[in-house]
Amino acid sequence: MQTTNVLELKKQYEQTHFELLKLLNEQASLKQQLKDLPESERSQSEKLLLAELKAQNEAGVLGESTMDAIFKAVMQAKTKEEEAASKRPMLVSRAYKNEDTVIDLKGEKVGTGKASFVFGPCSVESYDQVAAVAESLKDKGLKLLRGGAFKPRSSPYDFQGLGVEGLEILKRAADEYDLAVISEIVTPHDIEKALDFVDVIQIGARNAQNFELLKEAGRTNKPILLKRALSGTISEFIAAAEYIHSEGNGQIILCERGIRTYETATRNTLDISAVPILKQETHLPVMVDVTHSTGRKDIMLPCAKAALAVGADGVMAEVHPNPAVALSDAGQQMDIPAFDKFYSELAAFQAKI
Ligand code: PEP
Ligand code: MN
Repeated sequence: MQTTNVLELKKQYEQTHFELLKLLNEQASLKQQLKDLPESERSQSEKLLLAELKAQNEAGVLGESTMDAIFKAVMQAKTKEEEAASKRPMLVSRAYKNEDTVIDLKGEKVGTGKASFVFGPCSVESYDQVAAVAESLKDKGLKLLRGGAFKPRSSPYDFQGLGVEGLEILKRAADEYDLAVISEIVTPHDIEKALDFVDVIQIGARNAQNFELLKEAGRTNKPILLKRALSGTISEFIAAAEYIHSEGNGQIILCERGIRTYETATRNTLDISAVPILKQETHLPVMVDVTHSTGRKDIMLPCAKAALAVGADGVMAEVHPNPAVALSDAGQQMDIPAFDKFYSELAAFQAKI
């Protein structure tokens, strides 16, 4: 081959790359304009397009699987905007906002470094039951009352909660004893209803990856208490909080409630190390639920102390005036005398650290 011919071929070879780059940019720009096309429609048309490209390539010299891989990559290529979005720090992260988020619940500030306490029954059963716990909270100068009105039970034959009637009971007791109410909501369409009754919407462990519920909670301006999923990793937990924040609601309290492991000595394994990790990685308050993590009244106090010692912004535990007849979690709720002792020892510990 003559030298001039080789130079000419090399030049043409190089030129094709510049033409390809121009075409790829045109392709990306058209794709950007079609970004509202439903995912199913897009993947269907890409599948047909790939089949046609494959048929046309029969006449060419490009290897079939190479061609297939190139065009699949081209179809998934990200624009500059998409690349920047995937690299942006999450809204819940310390990298995005260094200052601690503090949530004001009827004057009780959660996330300041001074721990807050959330107590109340597993399920709301009656006004008298809730009022007995509310009175005990008020006597202690505590502010945050919990209680489940919509109960996510493992068995459909177990008590499912009083629903809206339960929310009404909580609100009545909270108004009478000047408390803020935390209660779990399990479906997106009940979120709006709950706004009139609760001060904090709880999203439970079973729903911590119910993304539609997380998004709906994110569209409200109510504080959200988000539990860690049953087997959720810390990064999944943070991503779940991001679902809420990405819709506009940054008032989120994270709650470590134990994860499922091979260990059977406790109901779940309390991952105490999650607390400092979550405090480090996010700017959100972090609480520890010692009832659902341990499932054991005999070790709740040391675990609550451990939570405070590692920097938790709060502790949650279940209290029932008569746990023996409780309609859920009968074995692990404290009665009022046990609660008095638990709280006085925990408060004494808090004062020391
Ligand atoms: C609860 O707090 O009432 C509850 C059901 O907890 P979890 O979602 O952590 O199991
Ligand atoms: Mn419970």
